[in-house]
Amino acid sequence: MQKVAFIGLGVMGYPMAGHLAKAGHEVWVYNRTQTKAQAWQQEYHGQVANTPKQAAQHADIILLCVGNDDDLRQVMLGEEGVVAGLSPKKIVVDHTTTSARVAREMAEICAFHQVSFYDAPVSGGQAGAQNGQLTVMLGGDPQAFAVVQQTIAAFAKFSKLLGPVGNGQLAKMMNQICIAGIVQGLAEALHFGQQAEMDCAAVIEVISQGAAQSWQMQNRYQSMLQGHYEFGFAVDWMRKDLGIALDEARANGSTLALTALVDQFYADVQKQGGNRWDTSSLLARLKHN
Ligand code: NAP
Repeated sequence: MQKVAFIGLGVMGYPMAGHLAKAGHEVWVYNRTQTKAQAWQQEYHGQVANTPKQAAQHADIILLCVGNDDDLRQVMLGEEGVVAGLSPKKIVVDHTTTSARVAREMAEICAFHQVSFYDAPVSGGQAGAQNGQLTVMLGGDPQAFAVVQQTIAAFAKFSKLLGPVGNGQLAKMMNQICIAGIVQGLAEALHFGQQAEMDCAAVIEVISQGAAQSWQMQNRYQSMLQGHYEFGFAVDWMRKDLGIALDEARANGSTLALTALVDQFYADVQKQGGNRWDTSSLLARLKHN
């Protein structure tokens, strides 16, 4: 069993930290809004730290899941941040979806303190975090990876080291690029079917048996047809992730025509007031137009 710190008890972090406690690890948590940390403690009986530094001091492995690049910098580098609580041989694992650049920046600072840093974004959404069924894509040093993998197994059904620091984030970008195109395709098919006055549910029953099948089709077509868009990953988060992918594409010379287009479609959804709708709300945009 490990001494673990978990920083950022949001939609994802709260249940992830809970799985670590349930697996028997000694868990210290920190959350900026303290009431969430107190609620977590009531539920899982771990320890609450007053600062990220204090949480890091108590742990051998420090896991984080905050919002974006700036949040990660604040929680790591602030006066009372994680870095101020580091000492040699500790391990930092960041589950936030960020740029690869900030991951490399954090790894360099950690290395100065003889600490290994892993970028470890996740896929599987809120349900995956709650059920302990996340997929984790990691970048970092192979040396300490076995310890990391064993620890995150508390909430991960699958995890893989994909190369040096930054590669976890690059893999997550590939994941989001795939999702953007697939969701837009599904939204267009349903929109087309509705305009043609087809029984879309019946059509999906047929075509989901063939090559058009996808996770999005299986899990979202019903709620999309009902116009319900409260099922997970929010449009604001998706725009953050696509923005990161598009920046990276500009840097590495790849052409992401479809991703750039779908990113703009999500901007339209935001204008419709859909910031917190889930990513399948691309259909709402087509209906609105
Ligand atoms: P969330 O519910 O908004 O939680 C964000 C957490 O980070 C909160 O605990 C928040 O603290 C903390 N935080 C944010 N900025 C901070 C700062 N500057 N200093 C200290 N703490 C800060 O977000 P989430 O849905 O859990 O997502 C977290 C990360 O996972 C994001 O990078 C997201 O892209 C990624 N992700 C999310 C999903 C999903 O389905 N939600 C799926 C895959 C990946 P407060 O409580 O004080 O606000």
